[in-house]
Amino acid sequence: MPAPDDNGFAGMRRNMVTYQIEARGVHAENVLAAMRHVPRHLFLPESLRWAAYDDTPVSIGRGQTISQPYIVARMTELLELDPDSTVLEIGTGSGYQAAVLAEIAHEVWTIERYGDLAREAERLLEGLGYQNVHVIVGDGTLGCAEAAPFDAIIVTAAAPHVPTALAEQLSEGGRLVIPVGDTSVQELRQYRKQGDAFKEARVLDCRFVPLVGRDAFGESRDGTP
Ligand code: SAH
Repeated sequence: MPAPDDNGFAGMRRNMVTYQIEARGVHAENVLAAMRHVPRHLFLPESLRWAAYDDTPVSIGRGQTISQPYIVARMTELLELDPDSTVLEIGTGSGYQAAVLAEIAHEVWTIERYGDLAREAERLLEGLGYQNVHVIVGDGTLGCAEAAPFDAIIVTAAAPHVPTALAEQLSEGGRLVIPVGDTSVQELRQYRKQGDAFKEARVLDCRFVPLVGRDAFGESRDGTP
């Protein structure tokens, strides 16, 4: 249940789902319900909460951003989750996407390279009662071998290619959703593991902050000021 004293945010959230998400063709009921429910404004710095339900990405500090609601919805739909799914997210950021995943899936692991962002997200997710999210500080390009395989993996930062460890840590039939390209523009892709092969679908053009790690862009490509 959304907090009763929601200051009108619940109404804004319903409108966000209707006009930004359903209207653009995301129809998976589990995704729409999750996004009507998660209090997105709490994942933003207090001074930017007014923009939480706008049709844009928003800064969350350290040069990073919380994605536009439509992109969160579309990526979540492409993961094809059900209540038994185990999911790995690379790029915890504010923790908002992780909360949306936690509403739908059984268990969520999320990796963030910045310790302060990870701790803040973890505190918020715990406070909201999500007991099925595990926040890890580290280089997400290496995945999380201890918890693998995953039914779904979502990368919420721009990758130059699919990191090898992530491909390996996907279960048979599993879905990997990832923006692939250079640091200025990328193509959102869905990969489905079928035996030794990956079936690729190219979805839309997008713009994410860079994935910085051993199997992605080097430190110098980090957008941090
Ligand atoms: N999913 C987030 C937004 C992600 S912004 C949300 O819902 O708010 C991208 C995030 O990826 C940033 O926080 C950035 O620090 C992180 N990141 C970049 N490279 C990473 C890596 N190799 N491992 C883990 N996190 C990484």
